[in-house]
Amino acid sequence: MVEAEEQQPWKTDFYSELPKVELHAHLNGSISSHTMKKLIAQKPDLKIHDQMTVIDKGKKRTLEECFQMFQTVHQLTSSPEDILMVTKDVIKEFADDGVKYLELRSTPRRENATGMTKKTYVESILEGIKQSKQENLDIDVRYLIAVDRRGGPLVAKETVKLAEEFFLSTEGIVLGLDLSGDPTVGQAKDFMEPLLEAKKAGLKLALHLSEIPNQKKETQILLDLLPDRIGHGTFLNSGERGSLDLVDFVRQHRIPLELCLTSNVKSQTVPSYDQHHFGFWYSIAHPSVICTDDKGVFATHLSQEYQLAAETFNLTQSQVWDLSYESINYIFASELWPHWSPGWGKKLFLPGHHWMGQQPGHSPKHPSLQRRDRSLVPGHS
Ligand SMILES: [Zn+2]
Repeated sequence: MVEAEEQQPWKTDFYSELPKVELHAHLNGSISSHTMKKLIAQKPDLKIHDQMTVIDKGKKRTLEECFQMFQTVHQLTSSPEDILMVTKDVIKEFADDGVKYLELRSTPRRENATGMTKKTYVESILEGIKQSKQENLDIDVRYLIAVDRRGGPLVAKETVKLAEEFFLSTEGIVLGLDLSGDPTVGQAKDFMEPLLEAKKAGLKLALHLSEIPNQKKETQILLDLLPDRIGHGTFLNSGERGSLDLVDFVRQHRIPLELCLTSNVKSQTVPSYDQHHFGFWYSIAHPSVICTDDKGVFATHLSQEYQLAAETFNLTQSQVWDLSYESINYIFASELWPHWSPGWGKKLFLPGHHWMGQQPGHSPKHPSLQRRDRSLVPGHS
């Protein structure tokens, strides 16, 4: 596949310099190997080594094994100090990769051994976001509080309550709710009440759905909530009986998809990059946002994900630029739109930037969707 580091260094520069937004990043899964080493050194008794928390290039795991890896990571992030450190490191790494806007998601966790409560967990993330801002990093960060399916509906209700409190007290930093965790655990209908409650309270909904096959009913229940964005949606267009209704529904409501190529291939819900459902959704010009999911566990970066998408589906630089630019439309902090769009363009067209001359006059005035010729996408012309 793509040898991001080894080949065509100018291309790597292009993807990392491209201003990007990251809308699907789980905090604990995003911890880099550098930060992981620091955590491991602080907790030698756990006897965790770094190969237990990352899936290297070319390697794969089952979805079940991936969820076990997240449990291992959780053992390493058990105190408010750990959470603060990983939040700051993850934000800095995204900023270094050219990410200008980041929505982090994470499930509030209680750890009796350290006295960490769900509240102090959330506060530690917020403190990390605040300190990163004080350090003038060129990135705007928001937080989606996550509901882990494994916790069941009662815990979900508690989490929504907590999310509502922070939604009211953080002036837009906590702005949404995520539903995630092992898709084989629990049923969507069990989470309807808390999810509806969150929606009523004004929280945006980003729901993982259709990550595994044969979940049409489950998927439709979640879609009926009209989520603001869909995580993965891997099997929405799988061609199973009736799945066309799901595609139609998502298209009709123009619900944006958060698509994570490396994550899906390494966790084996998608057999290969060229069979990734990005190809389908992109070819029909449906709102699609390239994301990392868990850049630490899956050993990737957002710039690498853009490069993978571009090289797999033959996107031109201009199409990649549009893909990144259009993703601004789907951020939850929509109050940023008017301030942001001009700067976004300006950053790219700085004198001396290698795009100059290649894309003369290509400077969108407004983050409205710009549809281009997408016939280059293999198999979907
Ligand atoms: Zn995810």
